[in-house]
Amino acid sequence: MKLDFKPFELKLRNTWTIANGRGSNFASVVLARLTDGGIVGLGEAPTSRRYSESVESMQAFLRLVNPAKLSFDDVPGSMAYVERLAPKNCSAKCAVNVALLDGAARKAGKPIYDLLGLGFRENKHVTSFSIGIDTKEIIRAKTLEAAVYPVLKLKIGMPGERENLAALRAVAPGKTVRVDANEGWKTKEEALKNLEWLAEDPLIEFVEQPMHASTPPADMAWLKARSPIPLYADESYHKAGDVALCAECFHGVNVKLLKAGGVSEAYEALKAAQKAGLKTMIGCMIETSVLITAAAHLAELTDHLDIDGNLLIDNDPYLGATAGKGMMSFAKTPEKNGLRVRTRNADPFA
Ligand SMILES: [Mg+2]
Repeated sequence: MKLDFKPFELKLRNTWTIANGRGSNFASVVLARLTDGGIVGLGEAPTSRRYSESVESMQAFLRLVNPAKLSFDDVPGSMAYVERLAPKNCSAKCAVNVALLDGAARKAGKPIYDLLGLGFRENKHVTSFSIGIDTKEIIRAKTLEAAVYPVLKLKIGMPGERENLAALRAVAPGKTVRVDANEGWKTKEEALKNLEWLAEDPLIEFVEQPMHASTPPADMAWLKARSPIPLYADESYHKAGDVALCAECFHGVNVKLLKAGGVSEAYEALKAAQKAGLKTMIGCMIETSVLITAAAHLAELTDHLDIDGNLLIDNDPYLGATAGKGMMSFAKTPEKNGLRVRTRNADPFA
């Protein structure tokens, strides 16, 4: 087995700002590739300031991996080895896990969703489209640009959030909107006041992560008991082990491959959440079609999708699942097995 990896800079279509107030025109990922006996598995590790996952830290972790210890024939055993190398580093582990599953499913001659026993139904899974924090003029323009997407996700949790929602509503009055507070509200009282304001809009479907993940669980449970809108955990839910806390404090969870450390752990996280009676969603970072497609393989375990990271960039080197008008589909995907992703034009590893 051979492991290759290299940093890749994604060019954003629009400057991307979230609740910490910082904006950027680029997002970095590390692309990974496992090759064994003519079978190639692709993986990807997105960066995240929130989780201290940088291009440098991810490459340092991937240098620790001895590819001779990895096998497409034993994904759980290979991941147990990777897990023992160092704690955390979930994004780098995600890259290895996705590449392993891609290779394993290609070897089995089936898509990952069939390898996992989930299948994938066409015309059923709609992803939301994210409108980042910006001036109200730009939010209005971005909302108009996103006219084909039936569900929007608005990032709030900053001063000016009311004007921003009003700007979106001025041009999309009848659209379902999910709101992501990104840990932006400081106290349970402030959060409740904002939730009551949001509840005046009947088309707001749910609110993600109102307060910081380090908020005492009693405060989060207090908010859940009073919230007029369903609350979804993002930063509070990484893996299946977080499910008891989230069942107490939230109505649903947003699982991400970055936080879980790949598709295998994300599968477990979604199953655990369903078992606990929580609604489920799978989300993403700014990523290429490798990870967006990887997430789409888990669609059957979700109530909602939020996998638009590849729609926000204009130099995606890969082709995979598509999201025309928000409908996730594998119908036009040229690759039939594994991750169902192939290089668009130039191979980033060439
Ligand atoms: Mg979020």
